[in-house]
Amino acid sequence: MGDNKQKRRNRIIGIISLLILLIILTGCGKGQTSGDSGYSLADVTQTSYLMGTLVQAKVYAPTKEKGEEVLDTAFQQMDALEKKMSLNIPASEIIRVNEAAGSKPVQVSEDTFLVLQKGLEYSKLTEGSFDISIGPLVKLWGIGTDQARVPSADEIKQKLKLVDYQSVLLQPEGQQVYLEEEGMVLDVGGIAKGYAADVTKEIFQEAGIKHAYISIGGNVLVVGNKPDGSPWKIGIQNPYRPRGAYLAIVEVTDSTVVTSGDYERYFEENGVRYHHIIDPATGYPTRNGLKSVSIITHKSLNADALSTGVFVLGIERGLQLLERTPDVEGILITEDKEVYLTSGLQGKVRITDKEFSLAD
Ligand code: FAD
Ligand code: MG
Repeated sequence: MGDNKQKRRNRIIGIISLLILLIILTGCGKGQTSGDSGYSLADVTQTSYLMGTLVQAKVYAPTKEKGEEVLDTAFQQMDALEKKMSLNIPASEIIRVNEAAGSKPVQVSEDTFLVLQKGLEYSKLTEGSFDISIGPLVKLWGIGTDQARVPSADEIKQKLKLVDYQSVLLQPEGQQVYLEEEGMVLDVGGIAKGYAADVTKEIFQEAGIKHAYISIGGNVLVVGNKPDGSPWKIGIQNPYRPRGAYLAIVEVTDSTVVTSGDYERYFEENGVRYHHIIDPATGYPTRNGLKSVSIITHKSLNADALSTGVFVLGIERGLQLLERTPDVEGILITEDKEVYLTSGLQGKVRITDKEFSLAD
């Protein structure tokens, strides 16, 4: 088996172990449990491979059948979202917009239009460090694909000219999207998984589900508390260890914990690690002393965009942005294993790996 296939297989096995870890942390997996109001609930889990990663969801429903029904609906909806927004499925809406760059606007669905609208909002909020028009550089580097390589400085310079979120024009009437320059490429890999988690939560809540979790490649969103009324315990991945080894635990209710890091997708050349989060200002993978950024808030789309954007901004500007953004908290892990917390997390994160220490 080619070593890329082996790597992908290891990644999937790793993610499964993370999910098993999540079950351990949440004390789930018994099949039947009682809700905090005493009546018994069936816990039902579904797992699938979507959006290039492992997706797992667990609901606590009045009956097993009800649980299976709501999970089926949710996974069908996530599959539909992937077909709209993927760069790997021909004739997706995003591909059609990219193909028409510089020539004509393209009408997209409400879902895609909303993701793009939010994407541009976060580009503005993060001063361009999160940029959905990053696609030409993502394709040039090819990180996470068999064609990953270090491009020449000149190639990067050429593609950088096509990265500019201010040239992504959105027309709400008819949900029209227009890219001003031929060769521009939208890439929603940094935000659409968060949106998929939010849509899944809505489906659960409309079905009356009060306790559930969704994990999309390690991006976690929980509904309510655990059935016994206690908060969910989410492990923060140790960026230096295999998937599933965590360095800290945070307890959350009805929130999402989304992490971006340089250990997700990368290759090494001459001892240098080139990962998949590109700085739109330089055209190179970010290198600013950060290993990972975890964002805790209510909307997973917001957390997804912010985790990527703050990772590019770096410690100082990243913490400043988070401190002035309401209802958002962050855990920033540095290369020298220091853990920075936003003010709302002080005293709420338990470090479980003594190699890491809270930054003062
Ligand atoms: P995040 O930090 O959340 O995002 C990093 C990703 O965002 C990068 O991979 C790149 O796509 C983009 N990005 C890089 N720099 C920036 C920046 N500065 N600003 C904004 N965005 C940036 N993967 C596959 O291997 N095969 C697939 O078929 C596939 N299909 C997908 C379909 C959809 C709809 C989505 C949402 C993702 C898909 N993916 C697929 C995964 C995708 O390519 C990304 O690698 C993944 O979403 C990265 O998520 P993350 O949480 O690791 O990193
Ligand atoms: Mg992201």
